[in-house]
Amino acid sequence: MTSRSDTAAHTVLITGASLAGPTLAYWLHRYGFAVTLVEKAHAPRGGGYPIDVRGTAIEVVRRMGILPTLQAAHIDTGRFTFLDADGAEVAVLRPSAVAGSVEGQDLEVGRGNLTAALYETVRDDVEFVFDDSVDTLDQHERGVDVTFRSGRQRTFDVVVGADGMHSGTRRALLGPEEQFHRYLGYSFAVFTMPNTLGLSRELLMWNTPGRAAALYATGGADDDLHAFLNFHQPEQPLHLRRDPDAQRDLVARTYADAGWEVGTIVKAMHQADDLFFDTAGQIRMPRWSSGRVALVGDSAYAPSFLTGQGSSLALVGAYMLARSLATHGDHVDAFAAYERDTREFVTLNQALVDKGGARLFPTTAEALERRNAMLRGLVAMPATTPQPAHSALVLPEPAPTS
Ligand SMILES: Cc1cc2nc3c(=O)[nH]c(=O)nc-3n(C[C@H](O)[C@H](O)[C@H](O)COP(=O)(O)OP(=O)(O)OC[C@H]3O[C@@H](n4cnc5c(N)ncnc54)[C@H](O)[C@@H]3O)c2cc1C
Repeated sequence: MTSRSDTAAHTVLITGASLAGPTLAYWLHRYGFAVTLVEKAHAPRGGGYPIDVRGTAIEVVRRMGILPTLQAAHIDTGRFTFLDADGAEVAVLRPSAVAGSVEGQDLEVGRGNLTAALYETVRDDVEFVFDDSVDTLDQHERGVDVTFRSGRQRTFDVVVGADGMHSGTRRALLGPEEQFHRYLGYSFAVFTMPNTLGLSRELLMWNTPGRAAALYATGGADDDLHAFLNFHQPEQPLHLRRDPDAQRDLVARTYADAGWEVGTIVKAMHQADDLFFDTAGQIRMPRWSSGRVALVGDSAYAPSFLTGQGSSLALVGAYMLARSLATHGDHVDAFAAYERDTREFVTLNQALVDKGGARLFPTTAEALERRNAMLRGLVAMPATTPQPAHSALVLPEPAPTS
């Protein structure tokens, strides 16, 4: 346990048990804090699309002792094949060429594999409260009074929102999401579907201007596919957020005349029981805390899937926040240090969106032609350059424990 002053935070409530939440809980427990995690789902969420752990974030999971587990779960995708409107091949690439990942080092794992590995590291050490969420937060000089949806009331020294892009903690603390949300011009649907094409460890991506359809085989020919439909929407369709039928209708209309296998994919979407629909956007906030409440991961600085860096920012941000709380006398200094030491890394990675979005999902015929020429150029290149933003933060040593 670290030697913190009597005025330092001792009890911490974390909302959200996905990536940032359990990572923060692991480190805070190690530094001697009493941690409670509240998660609205009834268990850690399994399944889900593949996500990346790269650069600085690799060091976080290594220090947590879960790197070997994640290496064993690594999805070793053989190739990305880009297709034109009729399904003809545009380019076949190594995945690292597209993502700027470092082969043999960076990892891509199923989201459920990562959440399970993180949960295992802390499940016996901190208090988990599933099937509940925060209803109200009331800050005062001595702590934060929390009323849970279940009706229970408790007081914590500090509360941290790790409850994702559409964070309720952020809303309760600082108001509606719209003021912090930077809409990036796309809507998307992800779901799993039967592997009727017999694909194995590969990704196929079909594009026309403003529309993309991808099939991702993270396993073998007998395993289901991750389907991904991403399309340009100049105006954010906010009214669709809680209406799955309207979401399906919009997707079906958007892809009505599409070639290749897109008709089959849209049909599968109608049958999917795990459809996830959202808009591509970032969270950009002038400050990541207010009083005794701070935010971490997507709730504070979601970079969007277009960067592929959301998981890595969540892991690194949680590590940095825990370390700041362990090394500073009170939460005000700790939150200031967390932000000072982490913001540049976040900014650099959020900035990748302008490159990535334009590159993979062009909205005009000219931009698509430019992208295809660029992809053909990558095929000819002997090696790929890692993305500097992924490793832009050199992780400080953990705070001392005794
Ligand atoms: C389609 C898609 C593809 C992606 N691809 C990639 C990729 O390739 N690479 C990558 O790095 N990232 C990717 N991401 C982003 C990545 O999934 C997120 O950045 C990452 O999960 C953020 O972690 P987090 O812990 O901050 O939040 P989340 O993972 O969003 O977790 C928030 C948690 O809080 C819980 N919760 C929500 N509200 C409450 C509440 N009120 N009370 C209690 N609990 C609550 C939720 O149930 C959830 O468990 C992708 C995201 C999407 C949607």
